[in-house]
Amino acid sequence: MATTTLNFLADFHHVATIGATPDHGVERQAGTPEHGRAREWFRGWAEDHGMAVRVDAVGNTFALYEWVPGADFVLVGSHLDSQPLGGRFDGAYGVIAALHAAAEADARVQEGTFVPKHNLAVVDWFNEEGARFPPSIMGSSVFTGAMDLETILATRDPQGTTVREALESIGCLGRDEPPRPVAYAEVHIEQGRILERERVPIGAVDRSWHTQKLLVHVQGEQSHTGATIMSDRHDALVAAARVVLLVEQVVAEFPPESIVSSVGQLFVEPNSPIVVPREVRLVADLRAERKEDVLTAREILLRRIQDVAAEREIRIDVADFDVREIQRFPEEGLELVEKSAREAGLESLRLRTMAGHDSVPLNRIVPTVMMFVPSVGGVSHCEREFTTDEDMLAGLAMLQQVVLKLAEGQLDDVRPGEATA
Ligand SMILES: [Zn+2]
Repeated sequence: MATTTLNFLADFHHVATIGATPDHGVERQAGTPEHGRAREWFRGWAEDHGMAVRVDAVGNTFALYEWVPGADFVLVGSHLDSQPLGGRFDGAYGVIAALHAAAEADARVQEGTFVPKHNLAVVDWFNEEGARFPPSIMGSSVFTGAMDLETILATRDPQGTTVREALESIGCLGRDEPPRPVAYAEVHIEQGRILERERVPIGAVDRSWHTQKLLVHVQGEQSHTGATIMSDRHDALVAAARVVLLVEQVVAEFPPESIVSSVGQLFVEPNSPIVVPREVRLVADLRAERKEDVLTAREILLRRIQDVAAEREIRIDVADFDVREIQRFPEEGLELVEKSAREAGLESLRLRTMAGHDSVPLNRIVPTVMMFVPSVGGVSHCEREFTTDEDMLAGLAMLQQVVLKLAEGQLDDVRPGEATA
């Protein structure tokens, strides 16, 4: 095996030790000390390889090769933060692959075998996961102007810490001007089963699903769990439990595998064993291939949730949150992936992403290439997440090719991806 691939694997498996959990996962939620340590590793690696490091106002970290003074930058990257008890591949794989692809491109520039038109920057986006600080895809959305910087910096985690404070605590509240982008590329684990099922090592992502969240605020009345007779209770948690089931059951109204839904977060007040809950806040997540299915599911839920409120004589407010339109990735980028795969002797196929990624907001402002490698069993956001070394190396080889083509300006005349229904 060539030294670059050996070095890549050594780096990948090293970063997996930062915030490692007992069953081979990682816990590096945004702005925690473990996340800070992973980012220190990133900075050190970049500086050791001759890259200049910049940190912007929302903590996105860029490692730059400025080959052509004043030219725009091809960005390539992903994220080093994780879910609680998350997997070691989600995000980190794409960042480490990007560093190695960039160093490889720089070696070619230095030896005179590659003449770039654009500069290259590896980026570690801040808070892609959105576990501690919702919404997800935060840093890249601020970068593209889809989210407001001051609102995001003031966002609090459940303990009351703001994004600004968390960034300061890990030395990542920057003041640097971010590089001006001309294109973006990202490689990521699929987090689904399609590539594994089809036995294909490379996925060219052609579109993202329509997604939205619902913030549901259930307001009952606090009372004594022992002394209050049943007919006098306005139990917010029982009503919330009904809502959780409604969210799960709504998918039954649609064709199989066309829509997914879940409630992943729930806060109960006052959360005392001796008190009938006063208040519950929960987040429902709806995602579908077609926008109209998400809208229909939302309508059904709004109606049924109000039925629960009426029946229980409590108040339930529902607000839309984190709405993301379907994005199509540019055809020319898909063809670039397919051609690079053919040249490398690898099979590829087109597929959609049900998960959100930093590439989705980036695709709104610059032509964007998103690639997947297989996830064993399709599992993700858990310690069991796994991708083989062989598949990671195939993705790295693809990313190296794509980065060179983008730096040559191959997608310069391509319009960014479009949101469609
Ligand atoms: Zn990710």
